[in-house]
Amino acid sequence: MPSTPEMDRKFGSLSPAVWRASTVVFDSLDEFVQRKQRQPDGFSYGITGTPTARLLEARIAQLEGGRHCVLAPSGAAALMTTVMGFVRGGDHLLVSAACYGSLKTFAEHWLARLGVEVELYDPCIGAGIEALIRPATRLVCIEAPGTVTMEMADVPAIAEVARRRGVLTMMDNTWASPLGFRPLEHGIDFSVEAATKFFAGHSDVLMGSISMNDAGHYAVLRETQSILGQQVSPDDCFLVLRGLETLQLRVQAQSAATQAITQWLAGQPLVERLLYPPLASDPGHARWKRDFRTHGCLFSMILAPAPEQAFHAFFDSLQHFAIGASWGGVHSLAAYYPAALQAGRAFSATDRPVVRLSIGLEDAQSLKDDLQAALAAFQAARN
Ligand SMILES: *Cc1c(COP(=O)(O)O)cnc(C)c1O
Repeated sequence: MPSTPEMDRKFGSLSPAVWRASTVVFDSLDEFVQRKQRQPDGFSYGITGTPTARLLEARIAQLEGGRHCVLAPSGAAALMTTVMGFVRGGDHLLVSAACYGSLKTFAEHWLARLGVEVELYDPCIGAGIEALIRPATRLVCIEAPGTVTMEMADVPAIAEVARRRGVLTMMDNTWASPLGFRPLEHGIDFSVEAATKFFAGHSDVLMGSISMNDAGHYAVLRETQSILGQQVSPDDCFLVLRGLETLQLRVQAQSAATQAITQWLAGQPLVERLLYPPLASDPGHARWKRDFRTHGCLFSMILAPAPEQAFHAFFDSLQHFAIGASWGGVHSLAAYYPAALQAGRAFSATDRPVVRLSIGLEDAQSLKDDLQAALAAFQAARN
């Protein structure tokens, strides 16, 4: 009976193998004693990764135009692992006020108590970030467009300032995916993706990735990932690998439908404002057009002033859009962010309630009809 690696070589499947392991076995005592020297790429225990995880890391690094990638069990874990790898007590951390919520909470409620000085900055600051950089500044966290409110950061300008001042940069690139924007090619040190979204694409798995070029940074993050116990299931890696096979087709189709739906929504009288940089009327449009190559599938809207019950009527009316968090999958989703949340945010883009939509692969006309009926229900409940 051949061992499994031999079987794997002889059995030519088009699908990647799912390698499960906590224990990895060694040929000799010497190899076991020196197992730590196998890092950052090799295998020594399940916590440092499996061949299935390495395959996914290699595919993602290639998509990002980067040399290295480290997986994490969720997009949130990828953000926190990067910060934990490089930020220490006494450091100053700059976080865009439009960054993903749990990154801001982690920074303000955990890191601040561990002696890190956390400062939120205006997402649209651009090269003006230079005025905020201090000798102790270690890392700048960027997201573009911003979570929920879609402010468009000037990524190359921030990267240029940070590089010149010896400060690291991490960008959450989930909205565009590397098909729309490649942060590493614009001078960013760490490109983070919530692979949960476009990469996996079917709303059934959590995964995150951190891509980079620098080998030293890679060694630090591999160690951080394994010290914090952040390994990923090989079955989940398989699902993301499968998702990547259709990534380009899904992004193209969802982008096209999103363009059509937002253009139609922009002409609806009950839609007061769309937060969506690909629209010419958006304040971030010029930056989006200069840097990004896809239209995404996620946007937000501010509806005409109305009591809370009108928003209930809007959401209750939806037939094709499911109500739920997350986005980027084949099923369209609708989410709601109350006014108090927006008004309470630093450098807030609005003090109004926000409706966020993720466009999936359903028929675009059916989605438009669904939104038309929801807007009619909204209007009826306003009166
Ligand atoms: C969803 C999301 C995350 C977090 O990803 P999870 O896998 O759900 O933890 C991070 N950043 C952005 C921009 C996201 O949309």
